Amino acid sequence: MADPTPQDRFSVVIVGGGAAGITIAAQLKRQRPNLSVAIIEPSTTHAYQPGWTLVGAGVMTLAETLRQEGGLIPKDVTWLRDSAVSFEPDANTVTLASGRVVEYRRLVVCPGLQLDWDKIEGLPETLGRNGVTSNYSRETAAYTWECIRHLDGGKALFTQPPMPIKCAGAPQKIVYLASDHWRKEGSLHRTEVDFSIAGDALFGVSYFVPSLQRQIDFYGINLHKKENLIKVDGEKREATFQIVGTDETVVRKFDMLHVVPPQSAPDFVKKSPLANTGGWLDVDPSSLRHVKYDTVFGAGDVLGTSNAKTAAAAREQAPVVVTNVLASLDGRPQTGAYDGYGACPLTVAYGKVVLAEFLYGGKVAPSFPYDQRKPSRFAWLLKTEVFPRLYWQGMLKGHDVKVKHNVKESP
Ligand SMILES: Cc1cc2nc3c(=O)[nH]c(=O)nc-3n(C[C@H](O)[C@H](O)[C@H](O)COP(=O)(O)OP(=O)(O)OC[C@H]3O[C@@H](n4cnc5c(N)ncnc54)[C@H](O)[C@@H]3O)c2cc1C
Repeated sequence: MADPTPQDRFSVVIVGGGAAGITIAAQLKRQRPNLSVAIIEPSTTHAYQPGWTLVGAGVMTLAETLRQEGGLIPKDVTWLRDSAVSFEPDANTVTLASGRVVEYRRLVVCPGLQLDWDKIEGLPETLGRNGVTSNYSRETAAYTWECIRHLDGGKALFTQPPMPIKCAGAPQKIVYLASDHWRKEGSLHRTEVDFSIAGDALFGVSYFVPSLQRQIDFYGINLHKKENLIKVDGEKREATFQIVGTDETVVRKFDMLHVVPPQSAPDFVKKSPLANTGGWLDVDPSSLRHVKYDTVFGAGDVLGTSNAKTAAAAREQAPVVVTNVLASLDGRPQTGAYDGYGACPLTVAYGKVVLAEFLYGGKVAPSFPYDQRKPSRFAWLLKTEVFPRLYWQGMLKGHDVKVKHNVKESP
């Protein structure tokens, strides 16, 4: 391994210039303009992924969700356009795909998670064709809308893999929007809509489940619990599900199939000394500092913590990481504490959203003074108008956009 040159030494190195990485870099530079910060990020385009639900429903264009990475990385932050391939935490270095070795005083790991498309037999070959689509890929989010728009009765299947996944509500958001579209077109009564979930709960926070179950009943959606998609035959338009915990399978025909792929920590994190037994980044759930390596911190979807993997979580984690990274550089105590906040705006119809906000342990944490289980037009405006602006103009620019939420115990 080559030794890092002085140009490859930084006070803070951030792996991943996504929602979490850009926000943390921007906040670090706002608080300490002279700090030397580098972001390792291979991609030239950044995506506002929460917008892909709306792209799949014909409400937003894909272009509106994309920006050039170079325009988002804060001024005076060094962009290393490369991928991290390994961590050497005992030497305080990261090795890049090019072989370059980068040295840090503090490391922030936030490369998101990995979409395991190939864990479903036949899926990579047919994704984006034969009515097989997914909002989880920038290549196919717009194709979801094509499929929905062109379906005039028939069989529509939607799937949800085992947890954890990013935005656990996204698999069902598109079920409701598609059903609402067909309802308005007058074709819902000729469309059989199936939603197969690998788990046995419609949503992880039970407080919101009755409200979501009402949507399932209203649209007449067939909810199949403990059904995990394992194989897709695009030509024959057949999807095979395993009944979880058994050897049994069930084959369902489809005219359109919306797939959410299984998800895991990125392979280079899984095989690193930074991973927990499940492969995720092993940090303290409150300080977000690595449990073993004091110079390493993490944020976003890669964490092995029990919060919902959402951009909203990354937004609340960023100031905690920044506070604790700066404190540790200064030799001060760690005072930043993350409470597990995550949010999921569930689009239950065009113009209506159930806004789920919660903390570690499923504690409900609403930001607004109304019953957020009720589908609301206000929350739809937040989702479609306010949140995207808050993301681009506030969060990624390093402004403090922390939402004040009131905690109440789940009944
Ligand atoms: C369909 C969909 C709907 C969603 N809806 C919502 C929603 O309504 N609300 C919400 O809050 N969240 C939502 N999310 C989740 C949200 O987008 C993610 O939780 C958020 O983007 C996580 O931020 P992150 O920085 O951890 O990961 P990302 O934003 O994915 O960024 C990770 C970055 O790391 C880079 N990277 C990967 N590997 C390497 C490597 N080896 N070296 C260096 N860099 C690397 C990637 O190129 C990427 O730029 C949704 C996601 C999807 C897909």
